[in-house]
Amino acid sequence: MNISIGVTVATSRFFSQEKTLGLFEEIKRNQLNAIEFGLLNCVIGRTNIPGTVPFPSEKQSKGIINRFSLQECYTSVHGPYRISATSEDPKKLKYSKSNLSATLKVADWLNGHHVTFHAGSFKRKHNNAHVQKVMKEWEEWRQQKGFKAKIAPEVGGKYNSFADFFTLVEIASTIDNCLITWDISHDFARGGIVTTEDGILKRLEAIDQTWNDLSPSNRLPMHFSGMVVGKSGEKHHVPLDKGTGVPWKLIFSILKEQNYLDKVNLICESKVPKKSKLKGNAITDAVRVREFMASDQLVKEYKGKPGHLDYYFS
Ligand SMILES: [Zn+2]
Repeated sequence: MNISIGVTVATSRFFSQEKTLGLFEEIKRNQLNAIEFGLLNCVIGRTNIPGTVPFPSEKQSKGIINRFSLQECYTSVHGPYRISATSEDPKKLKYSKSNLSATLKVADWLNGHHVTFHAGSFKRKHNNAHVQKVMKEWEEWRQQKGFKAKIAPEVGGKYNSFADFFTLVEIASTIDNCLITWDISHDFARGGIVTTEDGILKRLEAIDQTWNDLSPSNRLPMHFSGMVVGKSGEKHHVPLDKGTGVPWKLIFSILKEQNYLDKVNLICESKVPKKSKLKGNAITDAVRVREFMASDQLVKEYKGKPGHLDYYFS
C-alpha cells in the first residue's frame, strides 16, 4: 500500500515561517506525507479587497520546501476563490486566467503536482460547453507556458456550484492532462449517490475510463471531511462523523478493495467551526483515515441518517 494522505496549509506572501513551523512539525510527527498549499484568498495586483492577500513569492515558496525538507511530501496547491470558469464576462475570464497563471507559477515553485480550484457557480443552467471551452483554452495555454502542475477542477458542494462529479469527469475527458478533484464530502452534500457501493463503483469506472495513467506519482486528488448539509448542499466542513454523516468508511473501504490507494492523493479538510467545542482537527482525522486504510476493516454499508437525507434530497 502506497498511501498519500495529508492536510491543507494556508499560504500567502504574509505566511510566517515561524508560525507555520509547528504545523509542519506536527504533520511530520504524524507521518502524513501530503500537503495541499491553500492560496484561497490570494489575488494578483493590488489587494484592496478586504480579506485578500498577495501570492507567496518565489523565494518564500522555494524556502518552504527547503527549510522544512518537504521534498518527500506529495504537494499540491488549492487555487484562489477568485478563479471562475463559468463566467461569460470576458473581463472576469481574463482576471481568472491571470489568477490561475499566478497559482500555477507558485505550484511549480512548491513542486505541486496539481492545482485544485472551484470552477465557479452556475451562471446559466447547462453551460457545460462554455466551461469545457474555457478549460480547454486554459490547458492549451498552460502547456504553451510550460507550467508543470496540472489543473484539477473540484466537485462543488452546493447545488449551484459547478459541477457534480460526472459533469466534471466528462469535461476533463475531452481535455489533455486535465484532472479533477473528487471531494467526497461535496459530492455527498450535493446529493451524489456515494452512499451505496453501486454509486461509488460507477465513479471508479468513470475514473478508469478517463485516466489510464494514474500512479503513485500521478494521483487523482481527493478531499474528505465531515460536513453539515443543508437544503442548498454544503453548509460547512466539520470533523469526520460530525454533521450529516459523510460515508467515508464506505468509500474508503471500496477504494481499498479496488486497489485505488496508490492512485489517489487524499487531503483532509476537516474543520472545527469557530466557537464550537468539537474535538479534533484535520491532522487527527487524516491519521484516523490512514489507520483505517492500513487495517483490515471493511465497512460495506452506509449507516447514516436516511431520514435526514430524504428530508434534504427528496
Ligand atoms: Zn475540497
